[in-house]
Amino acid sequence: MSKAIRDELKQEVAKRRTFAIISHPDAGKTTLTEKLLLFGGAIHIAGSVKARKAARHATSDWMEIEKQRGISVTSSVMQFQYAGKNVNILDTPGHQDFSEDTYRTLTAADSAVMLIDVAKGVEAQTIKLFQVCRKRGIPIFTFINKLDREGQNPFELLEEIERVLGIRSVPMNWPIGMGRELCGVYDRMKKQVELFQGNDHSTIEVRPAADYNDPAIREMAGDYLADQLAQDLELLDVAGDPFDYEKVRAGELTPVFFGSAVNNFGVQTFLENFLQLAPAPTSRRTTEGEVEPDDEKFSGYIFKIQANMNPAHRDRIAFLRICSGKFERGMSVKHVRTGKDIKLSQPQQFLAQDRDIVDTAYPGDIIGLFDPGIFRIGDSLAQGANLTFDELPTFSPEIFAKVSVKNALKQKQYLKGLDQLTEEGMVQVFRSIGPFEDTYLGVVGQLQFDVFEYRMKNEYGVDIQLARTQFQFARWIVADKLDASKFRINSTLVRDKNDNNVALFENEYAMRTAVERMPDVKFLETAP
Ligand code: GDP
Repeated sequence: MSKAIRDELKQEVAKRRTFAIISHPDAGKTTLTEKLLLFGGAIHIAGSVKARKAARHATSDWMEIEKQRGISVTSSVMQFQYAGKNVNILDTPGHQDFSEDTYRTLTAADSAVMLIDVAKGVEAQTIKLFQVCRKRGIPIFTFINKLDREGQNPFELLEEIERVLGIRSVPMNWPIGMGRELCGVYDRMKKQVELFQGNDHSTIEVRPAADYNDPAIREMAGDYLADQLAQDLELLDVAGDPFDYEKVRAGELTPVFFGSAVNNFGVQTFLENFLQLAPAPTSRRTTEGEVEPDDEKFSGYIFKIQANMNPAHRDRIAFLRICSGKFERGMSVKHVRTGKDIKLSQPQQFLAQDRDIVDTAYPGDIIGLFDPGIFRIGDSLAQGANLTFDELPTFSPEIFAKVSVKNALKQKQYLKGLDQLTEEGMVQVFRSIGPFEDTYLGVVGQLQFDVFEYRMKNEYGVDIQLARTQFQFARWIVADKLDASKFRINSTLVRDKNDNNVALFENEYAMRTAVERMPDVKFLETAP
C-alpha cells in the first residue's frame, strides 16, 4: 500500500472517538449530548436537541410512531469536532421502550459513557446496557450527573457501582458539597479546583490547588466542606483504586466524573479527559482474522436498518460502521452475503435530523446507506475480501405476544411481512409445535411490537392482532432427546425461525424447575 494512504489512515483513525451514552431515562442523556455538541460547535442553539426530543419535528421524516410518542425509536448518529478529534456519538433511545436496536448499536461503539443520576444511582436500564458493553470489553466512563441536587453520598454511589455492576471505579474528580451547598469539584488528576458558580453557570472558574488541603479551598468552601473534602480524599488515596490506564482500556476500571449537565458544570473537563483516555477504533474480529482499521481495504458492517425515514419514498437507511480503509463516495464494494458488487453512491451522515451527503469517511465513522432492500442487519461490506464480521449478538426476548392476521384473505402479505421483518431483526418469531400452529413474537421492549404492528399495516397493508402472553423467558434447548410433556405447566415448547427448540416460561420458578428436572438438557439464553 502506498505510504501516503497508510499515513492518512493512521492519522484519521487516531482522531476518531466513537461512543454511546448509556443511561436510564431521565438521567440527563439528552442534556449531556446537547452540551457536548455545543462544545463541538455542532449545534448553535442550546435546546435544539431537547426540542427534537420533545417535538420530534413537524417536518420530521422519521417514523410516524416516533413523532406520536416523542421518542427516538431508532438510534441516530451525531458527529462533531473537538480539540482535533472527530467525535461520533451513537444515540441510543433513552425511553424504557428500548429495543434490540439499542443493544446492537452498542456493537458499533468503541467506548461507552455511563450516565448516572446522583440521587437515583444505578438504575435498571443502565444495568442492561452496561452488561452488553461489559461483554464486549470496551472501556466505560462514568458521569455522575445532577450534582446541583441533593443526592447520595459519593462513596455510596461508587460502592453501588461496584456491587451492582461489578466494575471498580476511580474518581477523577470529587464534589465539594452537593445540592444547594455545591461549591465545585476537586480535580484529582490535574490538582485544581473547579468552582461552581451558582448564579452564572456559563463561566466556570478554575484555580490550581497544591492539593486538597490548599487554603484556597477552605476560603472558598468554608471549614466544614473543606474538612469533608480532605477527609474524603485521604480515604480515597488510601483505600481507593489507583488510576490504571490498562485497566480502563480493558473495561475493568471506570473513571468517574462528577458534574451537572444542565448547568454545564464539569462537562468540558469530562469531555477533554474522555477524549484523551477513550480508545480510537481498534481491530475487529472477522472470519478472515483480525481487521486493522488502517488496512487499506475498506470494510464495515451494518448494525441497524431504519425503515421509512421518509414515508413518501418508502426508503430505508442501513447504518454502517466503518471498520477499515477509507470510504469514498461512489466506490464499489462487495456485499459479502450475496457476493454482489455494489456502488456506495448515496451515503449519508447524520447530525440529529439533518442529513448530509458524505464524500469521505474513515474507520469509526458511521454512514447511512440508501437501502433498496438488499441489506440485512449484520451484513458485511468489504473491498476485495470475503470477510464477515463477528455475528451481532442476539438477545433473549422478555416480552411475548401471540400474533395473528385479522383478515384471513391477507394471509399471504401477512406471511411475507412477518418473514421480512423478522429477517431484518425487528422481532423474533416462534412457532408452536402441534396441530394448531400458534405464532409468537418475542421482543426486549414493548416498542418493538408497536413498530411491528405499524409497519405491517403501512408497508404490507395487513392488520394484525397481538395478544400479550404471560411468558417472560425464552430458553433455547440443546438436548439429545426432548420430552415435550415436560413443558406444560407455565411453559410451552416452540421453534424459532431456524427450527431450534425453544421453551417459553411464564416465570422464573417454572424455568428453574425445568432446569433442575432435566439435568441432561442445556438451556441457553440465546440461539446456539
Ligand atoms: P434523558 O431522558 O436521559 O435524555 O434526560 P434529559 O436530558 O431529558 O433530562 C431529564 C431531566 O433532568 C430534565 O428535566 C433535565 O432538565 C434534568 N437535568 C439534566 N441534567 C441535570 C442536572 O445536571 N441537574 C438538574 N437539576 N437537572 C438536570
